[in-house]
Amino acid sequence: MRRNFLQLLGISLISSFLLPINFLFAASKKILNKNLSDEQKKIMFDEGTERPFSSKLTKENRSGFYHCANCGAKLFASTSKYNSGTGWPSFSEALPGAFKTKVDSKFGMVRTEYHCAKCGAHHGHVFNDGPSNGGKRFCNNGLCLIFKPSN
Ligand SMILES: [Zn+2]
Repeated sequence: MRRNFLQLLGISLISSFLLPINFLFAASKKILNKNLSDEQKKIMFDEGTERPFSSKLTKENRSGFYHCANCGAKLFASTSKYNSGTGWPSFSEALPGAFKTKVDSKFGMVRTEYHCAKCGAHHGHVFNDGPSNGGKRFCNNGLCLIFKPSN
């Protein structure tokens, strides 16, 4: 009896702890760049996806950093970019703390989508089939990124 009560208490503590986090996560999404195109807004705030091979960043291989097109946060270093052959800019790792992830079960697939930690904009999905053994593949919409070359 006492144990059941403690379990219930534990479950309600967990749910009351999780709910505000989800709420804050959703509330933190906001358009900061007034110059975003309709297509950029659709991807970043309505979880859309651009056509594969449509982004010129897929072939970008200069050194520099990739920033969030909405808030300007630095997300990826060019050293983690690689050619995945998928038609979207792909990275083996993100800069620490750049993203928050969420499970997406649309289209009957369970995938992990990621959002900019600073502005909440959707960027893409992360998979476990990266170039290194056990590495990640961040599959990013090019329209969500701004590349700034180092020199
Ligand atoms: Zn952002």
